[in-house]
Amino acid sequence: MKTILTGIRSNSVLTLGNYLGALLPMVRLSNEHSNNFNINIFVPDLHSIISDVDGSLQENIIRTIKYYLAAGLDINENVHIYRQSHVPAHSELCWILNCVATMGELNRMTQYKEKSEGKASCNVGIFDYPVLMAADILLYDATYIPLGEDQFQHIELTRDIAERFNHKFGDIFTVPAPTREQVAFMEVDEPIRIRDLQNPEKKMSKSTAAENSKIMLDDEPFKAAKKIMSATTDSFEDIQFDFETRPGISNLLYIEALVSNTPLSEVIAKWQGVSRYGDLKKEVANSVSEMLVSFQKRLAEISDEDVLKLLEDGEKYANHVANAKLLEVQTAFGLR
Ligand code: ATP
Ligand code: MG
Repeated sequence: MKTILTGIRSNSVLTLGNYLGALLPMVRLSNEHSNNFNINIFVPDLHSIISDVDGSLQENIIRTIKYYLAAGLDINENVHIYRQSHVPAHSELCWILNCVATMGELNRMTQYKEKSEGKASCNVGIFDYPVLMAADILLYDATYIPLGEDQFQHIELTRDIAERFNHKFGDIFTVPAPTREQVAFMEVDEPIRIRDLQNPEKKMSKSTAAENSKIMLDDEPFKAAKKIMSATTDSFEDIQFDFETRPGISNLLYIEALVSNTPLSEVIAKWQGVSRYGDLKKEVANSVSEMLVSFQKRLAEISDEDVLKLLEDGEKYANHVANAKLLEVQTAFGLR
């Protein structure tokens, strides 16, 4: 059985944009494939400590997993949830692969160049994390790794490392699918992009300071409804869907379609040409607050203990698989 591997960054509270653009698509992908793939969902906590830590990592890890469960992630015997730092083989293989990857390769990584640019000093983790990523992937013979475009270069690096290693030692690693095949497998037409409610030219981001710009998953539903009601639209006479010229109202139509699970074309057909913007806002506000009510209800039903139990099972599995792969690698190098 092939493996789909996905890392879920443990984060602060997420926005509606993160939910619709990242969480739900991942949950759907997993639910769709968990009968014929291993689905490895891991929290890359060793990657988290590359940037400043503020003492909230533990809390964020548990909450992030709860979010996936509340968003409808089905758990069956093929779905494994684990924390990277609870599977020591990740760090161990990372070191070994550091002796396979080259400085030249890592120096070429755009992410590293961007993150280190202009800084007097940056930690080695920022330079080396693509190798840890390669270890995350290769330990489990993962074929598909749903990631954004900004990470494609790292997938290609992982493939290069795996091929170089296999060439020397025999077929120990499964080489992940090339990025174009990954994209085809995920079958995403257009990535979802929810706009900022106050400045709809920009995307909604959790780090935006203005509270009215973003809906947070822990917003009280009535408060979220108010934010929708006060969203920036335009001063045209009627509702039209066009992100270029009318990003605000288009964003609301788009949110309505996603939140109420209705085809966008249907939502547009219903509202196009209508002059009462307030009616549309009321409908979207209603849909969003209903969505939050049911999401928050499901969230409240999941206890920390439920999450810890899932992690215990997942980490048992992950350690078993990862240690077996690590032993093959150690043996190849003569370390065992
Ligand atoms: P930050 O402001 O800290 O960058 P963010 O809201 O942009 O936070 P990220 O942590 O950068 O969130 O991204 C988490 C995931 O959410 C990514 O997969 C990203 O593509 C997705 N995402 C972020 N913002 C949106 C949005 N407005 N619409 C759809 N998806 C989004
Ligand atoms: Mg971002």
